Amino acid sequence: MRILHVCSELFPLLKTGGLADVAGALPQALIRQGADVRVLLPGFPAILAGFHTAGEVAKLETFAGAARVLFGHTEAGVALYVIDAPQLYDRPGNPYHDAHQAAYADNYLRFALLGWVAAQLAGGLDGWWRPEVVHGHDWHAGLMPAYLAAQGRPVKSVFTIHNLAYQGLFPADCFAELDLPAQFFRMHGLEYHGQLSFMKAGIFYADRITTVSPNYAHEITTPEQGCGLDGLLRDRSDSLFGVLNGVDEAVWNPATDSLIAEHYGAGRLAGKAKCKTALQALTGLDVTDEKPLFAVVSRLTEQKGLHLILATLGEIKARGGQIVVLGGGDAWMENAFREAAAADPGSVAVKIGYDENFAHQIMAGSDIIMVPSRYEPCGLTQLYGLKYGALPLVRRVGGLADTVVDCSLENLAEGIATGMVFEEFSENGLTQAIRRAFALWSRPKDWKSVRNIGMQQDFGWHAAAEQYLALYGAW
Ligand code: ADP
Repeated sequence: MRILHVCSELFPLLKTGGLADVAGALPQALIRQGADVRVLLPGFPAILAGFHTAGEVAKLETFAGAARVLFGHTEAGVALYVIDAPQLYDRPGNPYHDAHQAAYADNYLRFALLGWVAAQLAGGLDGWWRPEVVHGHDWHAGLMPAYLAAQGRPVKSVFTIHNLAYQGLFPADCFAELDLPAQFFRMHGLEYHGQLSFMKAGIFYADRITTVSPNYAHEITTPEQGCGLDGLLRDRSDSLFGVLNGVDEAVWNPATDSLIAEHYGAGRLAGKAKCKTALQALTGLDVTDEKPLFAVVSRLTEQKGLHLILATLGEIKARGGQIVVLGGGDAWMENAFREAAAADPGSVAVKIGYDENFAHQIMAGSDIIMVPSRYEPCGLTQLYGLKYGALPLVRRVGGLADTVVDCSLENLAEGIATGMVFEEFSENGLTQAIRRAFALWSRPKDWKSVRNIGMQQDFGWHAAAEQYLALYGAW
């Protein structure tokens, strides 16, 4: 089966979050199961620099200006189409906003073109290869199903929601520039309270909708988590599926990871102890194996519950723990974490910014990975934590609830506990989970048993790939 994925990021070429990890891993997992997969991306500088161009598929005059569609391969051998349109994409830094965090004013054109080119490829733009299914990811690809619908649906479309909160909303007058039928701009279409919504377009026009965990698939049909689109999602619930993301074991595996101090795996944890010592030494924390080392690798935002972590730093330290934080985001949080580290460098280590290598060292060297999110479509860091023997401490929401089992007495007794799970999105809720982590830490036998069970969980991409293939072929 020929499948075209459409997205705006792809690990290792360009990554701002979990979407890139998915785009980097899912095509390869599908290819391993026999599918013929290609990926379409905007020609951001990091994408153009990271792929080997084999040729030009087409030179086009479009509503967004001149564009060339290039074809080539990544280092890993995945086939890519890249839209080379420097007037839209040749900008340094973040793909979505400028250095002052302001979204680019022409984002509607930049990402409409992505959906439009996808539809051209579905219509046969490349004489050598034409997809049978086009699979778009998040609002950036939201117009793809609309352009396909405008063409009479020449192929099937799947649209995956990675985060419903980012919707790609633009003023109504942008619509006229996008080369879509006028009747699409209505409530039963892509109009959202007088604005143009790329996310709504994806949900409304796609043949099938998926999101990245079964629990989030349910949550987004409720007013609390539906971000204003729950009504439409309820209407489309027969076509809405939750498929849990996986872990790319070529990138995230402590038995083979070249970025960590020593290799290890379930049942042979000596290497993990060395990784902890190395992490403590690297970050200036007191070097000791007696203190539980908590960790955060995250965007520093309220969605991720980082203000709750700030509020509970005292609790962690008072109980004799340490914490290492890697992340970037809201300026006030960055400053507050920096100050906390400066005040107590033996117990609190903070690195502000984005650092892929350090993220691996943290997973390997820490005992607990904290993900206390307000909402979490799937969450990848808790899966990496499980794999690396860092017990996830998570809120019971979204994909976190699907992937971590709390170490309650009954779960311990049944041998199914893999971490700490709490309900209430508050300082108090998180504090209770931190107390439970310390209680478990004080029982080393139980700690090791929970860690071992967690490390043996299978979150490989093969399961998701099988489910997507079943979905592509199901209608
Ligand atoms: P989201 O996509 O909402 O940010 P996910 O948990 O799905 O959250 O994915 C986050 C991804 O980004 C993970 O691969 C995580 O390791 C990585 N990540 C987040 N912040 C940083 C950072 N500061 N440095 C390196 N990697 C980071």
